[in-house]
Amino acid sequence: MSLVTTPASLLATCAACASNRVTTITMTLTDGSLVDFASCHACEAKSWKQAGTELDIATVLGKAKKHKAA
Ligand SMILES: [Zn+2]
Repeated sequence: MSLVTTPASLLATCAACASNRVTTITMTLTDGSLVDFASCHACEAKSWKQAGTELDIATVLGKAKKHKAA
């Protein structure tokens, strides 16, 4: 049994270096947005996508910002 649990069909390819050593994680941001975070192990490029559309880091940080507790 393989230690790799991600099905091959779901493997992403790094846009920066074309490596497929990319880990993708789907997460929900503070504002409820469902985004896919991809991190390349070869060149450390990171990208965020929401419904297939690339998000810039500023947008992600804005969505992930915690509302200040009183
Ligand atoms: Zn890369």
